[in-house]
Amino acid sequence: MKPKFNFINARLGRIRSNLYRSLHDARVLGPYVIIKRKKLVNLSSNDYLGLGYTKIFPMQTQSSSRLISGNDNLFKKLETRLARHKRQESALVFPTGYMANLGAISILPQKDDVILSDELNHASIIDSCRLTHARKAIYKHNNMQDLEKRLQKDRRRKFVVTEGIFSMNGDFSRLQEITELCKKHDAILILDDAHGDFVAGSDGRGSAEYLGVSKKIDVYISSLSKGLGAFGGYVASKKEVIDLAINTSRPFIYTSALPNFLVQVALDKISSNREQKRVKLWKNTNMMRKGLESCGYQIESQSQIIPVIIGNEKKTLEFGRYLSSNGVFAQPIRYPTVQLGSARIRISVTSWLTDESIAKSLDVFERAGKKFGII
Ligand code: PMP
Repeated sequence: MKPKFNFINARLGRIRSNLYRSLHDARVLGPYVIIKRKKLVNLSSNDYLGLGYTKIFPMQTQSSSRLISGNDNLFKKLETRLARHKRQESALVFPTGYMANLGAISILPQKDDVILSDELNHASIIDSCRLTHARKAIYKHNNMQDLEKRLQKDRRRKFVVTEGIFSMNGDFSRLQEITELCKKHDAILILDDAHGDFVAGSDGRGSAEYLGVSKKIDVYISSLSKGLGAFGGYVASKKEVIDLAINTSRPFIYTSALPNFLVQVALDKISSNREQKRVKLWKNTNMMRKGLESCGYQIESQSQIIPVIIGNEKKTLEFGRYLSSNGVFAQPIRYPTVQLGSARIRISVTSWLTDESIAKSLDVFERAGKKFGII
């Protein structure tokens, strides 16, 4: 065990001596619940009208928090699979990626700690930092000098949080340098890889795998709703981090479990043949990026998220309207999602796209770029 997680064991020790919670296997079956092969009358469900159970849909949801209604075995299967996917000891599923961020980040830094967050981190990370009682410090986007300066300055316990692929810029976090800095300054690294997971790196293990630093990430957070095409979110880390989340994470304890059928969907998709689609996605991404560049656009993105920067907010909306009236749907993104004056069209490449649909999109982008004076 890494000594940097000792503080978590100390906290768990205090909880264990008093109000320790753990997840217990249970399968809800209408008015009954099966626990250790025994059928018990279920007095722990919020499915008040009994509408949650039908014969045609026997995979009944837990209708309550996993700690109250019991923990369907499907969760255990998915969490074991996700922990393996990230090569971590343990994983915990949350109803969404947003909640996984809230649930993991809010429990880690304490009052006397500091959390350093990239200025372009997603809203769910910002909200999670706000939930902690730690001091918050924002470092310039992917700027290692600024990060190091702030790491040097602070003598408290330090946490660094970054996205793997930035959701509005499509650039990779400089994880090789960040992991080195975290090691040097004894900081704990939290990675939200919502856009890199199942997309980047061998077998889609994510951005850190792609950049060769997967073993140096302390806490992984991700969504099941993007690269995996399922629904939900999860955290993967050391056992003690997951144990602490089960015991103290309010977005885990005080909300209903993800419905079982969605857990099954995630399990099916994670075991499916994803590799072919992943290869196609990168082929499409390269085709789109190169095509835009040869139209004359300046593209900074390194991933499937390709922003075309327009700048002015009004012009960006008009640009978006021109695209849709010519058969292409790419969303304009404005302040406050991105900085004022850096409005953009955010292209999200998928493996669904055919060579023809990419060629058509490029043709429309070329005409739009000329019309609006961007290229
Ligand atoms: N993190 C990042 C970086 C995201 O972009 C998003 C969703 N846009 C989330 C977390 C939240 O994921 P979910 O949609 O599963 O709640």
